Amino acid sequence: MTTLSAAGSHVGKVRANNQDSGYAGEHLFVVADGMGGHAGGDVASAMTLQSIADMDRPFESADEAARALSSALLDANQELAEAVFEHPELTGMGTTVSGFVRVGHRLAIVHIGDSRIYRWRAGRLTQITKDHTFVQRLVDSGRISAEEAAVHPRRSVLMRVLGDVDLTPEIDSEIVDTEPGDRWLLCSDGLSGFVSEDRIAELLAEHADAAAAVEALIDESLDEGAPDNVTIVIVGVDESPSSAVSRPLFVGSAAQPLTFGASVTKRSVRLPALLLHPLKAQSIPEDEHFEPESEEFFRELIAEDARRKVRRRITWSVGLLLVIALVTSALVAGYQWTQTRFFVGVTDGQVAIFQGVQQSIGPFPLSSVYLESGIDVDDLEPFSRQRVESTINADDLADALSIIDRLRDELD
Ligand code: CA
Repeated sequence: MTTLSAAGSHVGKVRANNQDSGYAGEHLFVVADGMGGHAGGDVASAMTLQSIADMDRPFESADEAARALSSALLDANQELAEAVFEHPELTGMGTTVSGFVRVGHRLAIVHIGDSRIYRWRAGRLTQITKDHTFVQRLVDSGRISAEEAAVHPRRSVLMRVLGDVDLTPEIDSEIVDTEPGDRWLLCSDGLSGFVSEDRIAELLAEHADAAAAVEALIDESLDEGAPDNVTIVIVGVDESPSSAVSRPLFVGSAAQPLTFGASVTKRSVRLPALLLHPLKAQSIPEDEHFEPESEEFFRELIAEDARRKVRRRITWSVGLLLVIALVTSALVAGYQWTQTRFFVGVTDGQVAIFQGVQQSIGPFPLSSVYLESGIDVDDLEPFSRQRVESTINADDLADALSIIDRLRDELD
C-alpha cells in the first residue's frame, strides 16, 4: 500500500550525533535542526518537538491553528531558555523549526531558521519558507546571487532560531492552500544544502510512495557525502481530508530519550532578559576567508535587527498607551454623563437631591448629595415617604426641584 506521508532522519557520514528531529502525525508535521553546545543541539530540537506535539489535533480553522502553533513555539522557546538556566552546559543551544498543521485544504505554517518547507505540485518544487540566514539577507539586499549563496562559506550562519538567544523570537507564520496531488517536503539543510532542488523534484516524481521518497532523498544526501544530519518529512495530499501517517512518529533525536532531566520543561521560571545570550556572541564570523565587507554588513544586520526589535517594542507600547487613553476617556465621558443625572432620595433622614446615578463602581458611588431640602422624611405621607426612600428619578435638576416642591406642598 502506498504511504501518503512519512518521515526519516539520518545522522549522516560525518557528524557524531543526530541533532535533527522530525515529527509526522495526524495533523502536525515538523522538522527541527538543533545546534550548539556539546549536547545542546539534540536537546533543543527534541525538546521543542516534544513540547509542540500536542498541537497535533484538529482545529476549527487554519487561523486558529496558526495562532496556537506560533504561541506553542514561543512557549518552547521559553522552555529552552529555562533548560539552559538550569543546565548551563547547554548554553548556546538552539533549533530551527519548520512545520505546519493541516486544516482541510489549508496549511498553517510556522517557520524560524533555515530548515525548509517545499511544495511539490505538478512536478515543480517551490520553496515556501524563507531562510533566516545571513546569506539570504545578502541575497535580499542584492549583494550576492542565490547561486553564490548556495556555496557561500557562511551559508549556515543563522539570524533567527529558538533557544536562549531571545525571549520573543520573530517567528514567520502563514497560511497556504493545498490541493489534491500536492506533496509537501519539510527538510533540514542536510538535504537542501547538498542536494539540488531539481534532483529533489526528480526523486519525488520517481517515488509516489512517501516512505520510499524519504529513503531515496536520504540516500541521495549520503551519496553527496552527507556532512550534516539529514531529516525529511513528506506530507501527501489526496482527496481525503487527512494526510496522517499510520502511527504518529518522532525521528532523529526526538526519537531518543532526553539525555538530561526532562522535568525542567514544565517548570515555570521567569528569566531576566539579561541572562540571554545575544546572537552575535555565538555567530560573529571569525573565518579569515570571510570578506571584511560582508563582516561589516553582518554587523549592520545585527544592529538593524536590534533596532527593529526596539521599534516593535515601541509600537507595542504606543498601542498599549492608546488603548489606555481610549478606555480612560470613555470612563471620563461615562462619568460626566452620570453627573448630568439627578434623583431624589434620603440622606440623614432628610429628603435630598442627588447628582449622578444610583449605581457605584466597586466602592466608588456615582452620586453625591446636591441639595438638602430640609424636609424630614418622617413628616411625609407614608406613600410619598416610601417613594422617596426607594428614590425618584428626575429628568433634570429643574424636575428634581419640582419634585421637592410637590413634597413640600404635602406637608401643608
Ligand atoms: Ca543542519
